[in-house]
Amino acid sequence: MSDGARHIERTFVMLKPDALERSLMGEILGRFERKGLKLVRLELRRVTKELAATHYAHLVDKPFYPELEAYITRGPVVACVWEGIDAIRVVRNLVGATDSILAAAGTIRGDFGVDKTENLVHASDSPESAAVEIRNFFNESTSTL
Ligand code: UDP
Ligand code: MG
Repeated sequence: MSDGARHIERTFVMLKPDALERSLMGEILGRFERKGLKLVRLELRRVTKELAATHYAHLVDKPFYPELEAYITRGPVVACVWEGIDAIRVVRNLVGATDSILAAAGTIRGDFGVDKTENLVHASDSPESAAVEIRNFFNESTSTL
């Protein structure tokens, strides 16, 4: 195979405030479930400004960051961790491209959004960021699954 070995991975996913405001939580979580991923963490919570700056550390200097901060802190989010074969890539494929207008039909962003900032869902982009993001949102010492 040209695309490398396949491993069981965990990936961090966050349903952003617009997903909850638009009552798309069940639809979005259902897509991950139906793909065959296993849910191993789930929490309804708020993202503080401090957590936003940690989570989006690579973006804090961008001109759009104030808009991104206002968006991600304005209402509850669902933070979750999904496990499965190649879960990081699998979930990124289900989520679609960052700009919802460019995201392919059939992806979450492609099916439900039209905005580049308000794009419904976050998903880790690498094993390294997945590990950091899971640690930022969940206390791994409480792990039982
Ligand atoms: N974002 C934005 N404007 C941009 C790029 C990104 O508002 O030009 C927001 C958008 O909500 C995106 C998040 O910042 O999901 C994180 O950006 P990233 O490039 O990591 O995109 P993602 O990994 O979420 O597709
Ligand atoms: Mg990203």
